[in-house]
Amino acid sequence: MGGETYTQKKPRSEYPLRAPKPVGQLISGIYRDRISQFYSRGQWEHNNLLAMMNEGVASGEPHVQLSVWDAPGQSRPSFDDAVSHEFKKTSVGSWFGPSWSTHWFKAVLKVPEDLRDKRLLELHWDGNNEGMVWSEDGKPLQGLTGGGERVEWVLPESFRDGKEHTIYVEMACNGMFGNAPGGDSIQPPDPNKYFQLSRAEIVAVNPDARQLYIDIWIIGDAAREFPSDSWEQHKALTTCNGVIEAFELGNKESLKTCRKIAEEYLGSNVNSAKVYDSGKEPVVFGIGHCHIDSCWLWPFAETKRKAARSWSNQCNLMDQYPELNFACSQAQQYKWLKELYPYVFERVKKKVVEGRFHPIGGSWVEHDTNLPSGESLVRQFLYGQRFYESNFGARCQTFWLPDTFGYSSQLPQLCRLSGMNRFLTQKLSWNNINKFPHTTFNWVSLDGSQVICHMPPAETYTAEAHFGDVKRSMSQHKSLDQDNTSLLVFGKGDGGGGPTWQHIEKLRRCRGISDTVGLLPRVHMGNSVDDFFDKLEIKADSLVTWYGELYFELHRGTYTTQANNKLNNRRAEVTLRDLELLATVASVKNKSYKYPKKEFDDMWESVLLCQFHDCLPGSSIEMCYDDSDAIYAEVFQTGSKILKEIIKSLGVSEVKSTTVAEGVAINTLPWHRKALIDISENEAAVVCGEGSLLKLRRFKTSEEEPGARLQKLSDGAFLLENSGLKVKVEAGCITSLYDKAADREIIPKGQKANQYVIFDDKPLYWQAWDVEVYHLDTRKGLSCGETKVHEEKNHRVSVVTETKISDKSSIETVISLSASVAGQQSYVEVSSKVTWHETMRFLKVEFPVDVRSSEASYETQFGVVKRPTHYNTSWDMAKFEVCCHRFADLSENGYGVSILNDCKYGFATQGSTMRLSLLRSPKAPDAHADMGEHHIRWAILPHQGYLGATTVRKAFEFNNPLRLAAPIAGSSVAQVVASEPPVRLTSDSSTSLVLDTVKRGEDDEDVSRGELPTKKGRSVVLRIYDSLGGRARGTVATTWDVTKVSKTNLLEDELEEVVIEDGKFAIDLGPFEVATFKLQLA
Ligand SMILES: [Zn+2]
Repeated sequence: MGGETYTQKKPRSEYPLRAPKPVGQLISGIYRDRISQFYSRGQWEHNNLLAMMNEGVASGEPHVQLSVWDAPGQSRPSFDDAVSHEFKKTSVGSWFGPSWSTHWFKAVLKVPEDLRDKRLLELHWDGNNEGMVWSEDGKPLQGLTGGGERVEWVLPESFRDGKEHTIYVEMACNGMFGNAPGGDSIQPPDPNKYFQLSRAEIVAVNPDARQLYIDIWIIGDAAREFPSDSWEQHKALTTCNGVIEAFELGNKESLKTCRKIAEEYLGSNVNSAKVYDSGKEPVVFGIGHCHIDSCWLWPFAETKRKAARSWSNQCNLMDQYPELNFACSQAQQYKWLKELYPYVFERVKKKVVEGRFHPIGGSWVEHDTNLPSGESLVRQFLYGQRFYESNFGARCQTFWLPDTFGYSSQLPQLCRLSGMNRFLTQKLSWNNINKFPHTTFNWVSLDGSQVICHMPPAETYTAEAHFGDVKRSMSQHKSLDQDNTSLLVFGKGDGGGGPTWQHIEKLRRCRGISDTVGLLPRVHMGNSVDDFFDKLEIKADSLVTWYGELYFELHRGTYTTQANNKLNNRRAEVTLRDLELLATVASVKNKSYKYPKKEFDDMWESVLLCQFHDCLPGSSIEMCYDDSDAIYAEVFQTGSKILKEIIKSLGVSEVKSTTVAEGVAINTLPWHRKALIDISENEAAVVCGEGSLLKLRRFKTSEEEPGARLQKLSDGAFLLENSGLKVKVEAGCITSLYDKAADREIIPKGQKANQYVIFDDKPLYWQAWDVEVYHLDTRKGLSCGETKVHEEKNHRVSVVTETKISDKSSIETVISLSASVAGQQSYVEVSSKVTWHETMRFLKVEFPVDVRSSEASYETQFGVVKRPTHYNTSWDMAKFEVCCHRFADLSENGYGVSILNDCKYGFATQGSTMRLSLLRSPKAPDAHADMGEHHIRWAILPHQGYLGATTVRKAFEFNNPLRLAAPIAGSSVAQVVASEPPVRLTSDSSTSLVLDTVKRGEDDEDVSRGELPTKKGRSVVLRIYDSLGGRARGTVATTWDVTKVSKTNLLEDELEEVVIEDGKFAIDLGPFEVATFKLQLA
């Protein structure tokens, strides 16, 4: 080394001796505020950059000739139907409506001579609502959203020939967010909105002006948002002022000069995707996305069009911008596209093959995860992944739920069993009590399974790709100790749309800034979500962990709102479970019976659709519930038809009444049943046994089994008693519940159970969604009217009480106690008929119990989740209203009380008071939510010991009642009742194992829909889980001729072979494990 010479730069010699003029420091506030004046509307727009955006505009005839056909009512006709009608002349300035109507425009375009050679020609169409451009021959080309959201359609080159060219525009009279009446978008829609066609013109855009607009926008943001103690902020400020000073109105060349100055800050590559080729390490990964709520402030029918509009746009943008990668979820929306817009579906498919359009999520819709049953979650993945696999050749690796209202604790396990080990959401950033502490972490299920979870730190799934979004991707990143990368999910959404060209241009400049001046986290485009997670997966071991549910500290009202929809969901889940089990048994037993797979698939797809995260939670407009009511009605209609056929093939038919000798009970639960069943108006029988069809035997009272008794006491109270329980009902409430075997009073002295309470229910904003913590302070007990005898039979006694809520609302409550059945835990059953016409009030029923524990247990999918009964910390307090499925339980060592329900999901346990949430009455976005009559059932089940199988099984039995049937002509009870059930699960140790699902294999050649290759022979799939959280061993015994048993995942891929001997194989599950077995039949 050596020999280098150092040349000192000499100061210039001409540095003047005397200061020629005063030079001041920029007064930064003023110079900063000046920037937006350069490109904003208002008083400057004719003298700033906006005045140079276009090089020419042609509107009106002969360049743009418009005619229209108004589709009748709220119909949404197809292209062929629409264009077959006569169109009448119309013009810009005309109004169209009302809300939800459709108008088809024929636009004949002729580019004027002086615009033909311009660089960029676009049609600018603004109907202030949504629209779709169609080609003359019926191809959907591009979606439009009015109000300036997305109003440009680039004219094809062929339109520059000076001739007339026809296109059609399908106008939908709703905005991106439906038809809210004013500025408050969640108010019920205005049925009478009209929309003005404010623009329909051919525009020659000045590309330099357009590019400069984005330049100054982003550098202006740097001047506004970078810290003032950074040189990068000062540099941005001087660059912007340099641009503004170089601008000369009317001088196109000055635009080029301005852009040259902007280059000093942005670098020279921002005009193309080349900007991403600098080779420098990026940390923020931009992914285009378009959140389309399958229904919300608009009905399902509009969503079908939203998908076509939004995704056509993305295909167009991909042609223009090679760096755009786009991820989109919800198999259901792809299916709609395939059926209704095959042209767009083919375009999407091509982009999928190119690796730029990424089907993501693996589920049927972006569903709620609090309320659906375990099996429903399984089917979301099964139907979703099968759709993706059969249409795009691959399954998804990432579960994608950016907008759902909380995430239940078994999701990681179910994701892993569905081929996904990644999960994306961001909704927890909406928590209004505690800040969720991680951005990237391992999320761990009840059974210990984990997925890598990422919550984009920009805290949105509809980012506008602002400078600030990129900046926040680092500044709000909470997992920087482990990893500094993040996803930026950008594109217009909720009502569809996706990225716009502005978003992509802005991100190019953000990248330019990072590589030129620095400070801004370096954004990259062109990767997929899977690429992003691939890198995280390498360092997964070092990521922090979060065990259990991702409880959402907001939207707690969604466990209760739209009660009828939730009842339908529960009923549909029960119906499908029962039917699949019975149809499996029937199809194996009787070869002439065909397992109705297609019907089941249709039913499931309907139920899964209604589990969408604004439908089942109750946060949609009234129209959506009219739709879901109709969807469920069809599900139940198909279901009852199928049930008839199944049981006919088993040799029976349903009856209303029969005799002990001639009747049977249809059972769908997988354990030894022993229960009462009504066989006529005044007579009950005992059902005892295992299998689908069970014999009846006579119910008779005896000295030891005195049946149920009712007694009116001298103080006017009633005593309901059987051999297990003594229930005192006083003024409609239960003032004593005595467990004879345990010698224990359950209701604390002086307190009342089954007490109705009502709360003021005015949340901070989101009415249908939220119940706020302060509602608890407004509790008022309802007093009851007179209690009367309702039923006094040997096998059941009951009393009925009227409770007035207000002048308009009341409750009729029947409290019943049945005769106890030996070996079975008795419970108090309550059924209520509520007439409900309230405003912003919340009805609950409460049960103070003499049990003390700092934790209560709630049934969740395939398990139990524990939550605090106290408010020690803000995290405990945040769970003041939680989700449960069929039961909630408060147990101390040795004893506990469970509250069962048949259609409810909201619950709270405050100290020793258990409270089941019944009905809410929000007025937005559905002004009539929950008004009318409701039938709700619940039960109080005291039990000895801690929460155990008694509660799990009684909760099943409460939801899956026995049905009465009789053999059809020509067969006898003895012939139809099998001596042993075809498949039987016995537990070796505890009774926590549940055989939840019995169904036929998806791809069995005799049942398959054919979307994936069929498999030879017949198979039966069993899903078994541990319901209580411990090691659970047992045995499955089957009478079927089984040749092979495999343990599979939820997608029914065979993972390992299980040894079967003499028709028996062993089950050995870990705590809360969900296991699936496939039995191949001979
Ligand atoms: Zn959503």
